[in-house]
Amino acid sequence: MIYYHNFQLRLLQYAELGRENAFPEIDCCPMCRAHNRLQRHGFYERNAIENGTVMRIPICRLKCPDCRKTLSLLPVFLLPYFQNTMVFIVQLLLSVWLLRPLQVSRQLRRFYAGRFQAKQTDIALFIRESGDRQSCEVSPDREALRLLERILMLDPADFVRQWWRHRLSSFMAAADYRGARVVPSL
Ligand SMILES: [Zn+2]
Repeated sequence: MIYYHNFQLRLLQYAELGRENAFPEIDCCPMCRAHNRLQRHGFYERNAIENGTVMRIPICRLKCPDCRKTLSLLPVFLLPYFQNTMVFIVQLLLSVWLLRPLQVSRQLRRFYAGRFQAKQTDIALFIRESGDRQSCEVSPDREALRLLERILMLDPADFVRQWWRHRLSSFMAAADYRGARVVPSL
């Protein structure tokens, strides 16, 4: 399972610190709720990309001594299964609707724009639930832009953390995906 943690760092800083990052101790298992400190269970490496720079970063794994399940501590600047950082994805999406060129392939732009549009109604609902009372735009394109600006205002990392408290799939997941691989942060 995936557990989100805010290291209060951007990708570059996290990559530089590598295995020296301040990985949190978790005293209550978010999977079985046992009050037992989770044990360190090694690392795995994954790619993370921001502004075209590919970095290999370690992801710390923890294991529950009770239920024996493992937990991966994912930094909040990443989405599960996506290599591009959350900030980069939001910037890329903004560039699509602001018609501002960004140095990425048309294919990548189309991919993220499609995912965003498929979730747009749910994202609008989520923004509203989080206390935003701004009225919606009638035009879907202007509404997409409004939502992206709200996400930037919330801070993309906070947005992602909040999202996982209330949703079962990533805000960029395919519309038919119903996975629940992320456990809510305690
Ligand atoms: Zn457990």
